[in-house]
Amino acid sequence: MESKELFFSTIGQDSHRFLDSTTTEGVGIILGGVSIPFEKKMDANSDGDVVLHAITNAISGFTCRNILGAIADELCLVQGNKDSSLYLRIALENLSKLNAKVAHVSISIECKRPKLSPYIEEMRLSLANLLGVDGNHIGITATTGEGLTSFGKGEGIQVLAILTICQIQ
Ligand SMILES: [Zn+2]
Repeated sequence: MESKELFFSTIGQDSHRFLDSTTTEGVGIILGGVSIPFEKKMDANSDGDVVLHAITNAISGFTCRNILGAIADELCLVQGNKDSSLYLRIALENLSKLNAKVAHVSISIECKRPKLSPYIEEMRLSLANLLGVDGNHIGITATTGEGLTSFGKGEGIQVLAILTICQIQ
């Protein structure tokens, strides 16, 4: 039988609050695998990479194998793996078991600060590497949302990710 490629859309979301650090140690955030200088840190058990978490959730939205939650908690709290790219890698392994891969990524980030425009290109390259997707198929927009939400008021960061998945059937 002839195999064919089918395309599916899947959505993922995540948000984290900023924490004030009592020392300069551990401040700064990681978004999409890129370290960004900032005077606060993320309130998270892991490295708090809210972009990778949203993408991981989007992949789970296709595979129906949830990583964030019990599996990531075991990796993070019990085994001490705080690197969110590990959670993403497990989601990608589940995806390839279904003969599927990521074809396109669209990310929308909402926060007042830090200012993200200087880091968008580096984040696209980093995500291209982590996902094995051509950088031309990774789009990232950032908005302050006019200060209407907690994210727009500077209390944290929210990310929405819509992925296009290609599955060979
Ligand atoms: Zn998260």
